[in-house]
Amino acid sequence: MTSDVINTTITEDWECELVAPKHQALHSRANIDPFSTDFNWFEKEAEMLQLMHDKFGIGLASPQLGYSYNMFVMNHEHLGDIGVYNPEILEFSEETCRYEEGCLSFPMLYLDVTRPEKVKVKYTKTDGKTDVETWMDGRDARCFQHEYDHLQGELYIDKVSDLKLKRAYNKREKFFKKLERQMRDA
Ligand code: ZN
Repeated sequence: MTSDVINTTITEDWECELVAPKHQALHSRANIDPFSTDFNWFEKEAEMLQLMHDKFGIGLASPQLGYSYNMFVMNHEHLGDIGVYNPEILEFSEETCRYEEGCLSFPMLYLDVTRPEKVKVKYTKTDGKTDVETWMDGRDARCFQHEYDHLQGELYIDKVSDLKLKRAYNKREKFFKKLERQMRDA
């Protein structure tokens, strides 16, 4: 893609809506430092969290809205809703685990993904000043890694075999068809 395309993601406009799975931002590195903008991230974050909760998600990354800001929001089991800026993963545990993941960019598409069980992470908080360094495990570790991947332009659908992915898409198709029938018969 040309640089023109990348420039369109740096626009000062902000619309807090999910973009289609093939949007360029979902397949590119989110390399814009959020704090290099004039954005009030407390406000942007609130909008993102609202969208995330409305859609019953536990994480939402800026590329999912079509923007390449290096940030995401997530619901942490103990900290509650948090904003994560310029994150790094410093260490991965050797133990891995397999768990079912979904993604707001791929509604109702559930995939068993294997990932390290724990991660030591570092990120800056919404104020742009406070750095956090901590271990995360369980659902938090999984969510952090999934959202972090979004910032690298990587998606969970790339972490499973083609066969598994095809099965999951078929399952989703069946579910949607069933839903359609139910709506029609209701
Ligand atoms: Zn996702």
